[in-house]
Amino acid sequence: TKSKGINNYLFYAKSMHSAVLEILTLENDLHRALERNELVLYYQPKVNAATRIITGMEALIRWNHPEKGLIPPMQFIPIAETSGLIMPIGEFVIRTVCRQIQTWQKAGYKPINVALNVSTHQFKKQDLAGIIKAALQDTMISPNCLGLEITESAIMGNSETERQTLTELNDLGIGLAIDDFGTGYSSLSYLKQLPLDYLKIDKSFIDDVVSDSRDQAIVRATIVMAHGLNMKTIAEGVETEAQLTFLQTHGCDEIQGYLFSRPLPADQIQGIAQHTLRKGG
Ligand code: C2E
Ligand code: CA
Ligand code: CA
Ligand code: CA
Repeated sequence: TKSKGINNYLFYAKSMHSAVLEILTLENDLHRALERNELVLYYQPKVNAATRIITGMEALIRWNHPEKGLIPPMQFIPIAETSGLIMPIGEFVIRTVCRQIQTWQKAGYKPINVALNVSTHQFKKQDLAGIIKAALQDTMISPNCLGLEITESAIMGNSETERQTLTELNDLGIGLAIDDFGTGYSSLSYLKQLPLDYLKIDKSFIDDVVSDSRDQAIVRATIVMAHGLNMKTIAEGVETEAQLTFLQTHGCDEIQGYLFSRPLPADQIQGIAQHTLRKGG
């Protein structure tokens, strides 16, 4: 009936209203999160698919909210992107990762590569190369210890300035990975134009790779293509031995996932990563 329709509408409008309020409150809180040190980085190891030796880590941000607890990035990175807060947050991530690498090195551990995620806005609008160079200089760590993960959709525009940024970062010796490969709407032509080292196979292709022949076809073809382009492959979201076996069989270089380790705070990763973080002579 008509009145039911209006009630539904009012209900809808009301829940819309509270959803908008929720976002505004979060955005407000996010402004202060940086100053109050509420943003933290977790680290997830990447391991060689054949030897299971750790090859590096990925830094993943979390928000330690005073009332709401640990908030995952999917719930605040989009808000950070639309509000512009992603710029200071992105800079925080770069500086924190460089400092963490420095801390591990000062503690006598072997150099380890840590990759960080770069958001679309950050890549297009920020002086990414400048900020990274400054952070490298301040911490005196080698650029070889740093990696960047950039999503396919961020790279899609493929403007001249963006290509120059990637070339500059690559020339410094920073490892470049294409993240979420195959989930965007881009063409493949950027793969031959850009100096990329790694191709990350998205978790959505790995989830059912043991049973779904279509995922198998995509994953196999991706690995062959990446190797043909002189890139290494990392599969993300690997949770089972069966998935690992499939990936090993088809020559995937590295894996990352709960099978080996969840993302952990820096002090806890040290225990897990003993193999690679071993104190060297
Ligand atoms: P992503 O870069 O594709 O990262 C992979 C996500 O999969 C991470 O979620 C990771 O915790 C999760 N994951 C890894 N292994 C497994 C597994 O075996 N099973 C399952 N179920 N999940 C697994 P997380 O940490 O919630 O991050 C989500 C997304 O947020 C990331 O996707 C990335 O796009 C973004 N993000 C994270 N940290 C940052 C950051 O510092 N800056 C920016 N701009 N974005 C970030
Ligand atoms: Ca990533
Ligand atoms: Ca390179
Ligand atoms: Ca992904």
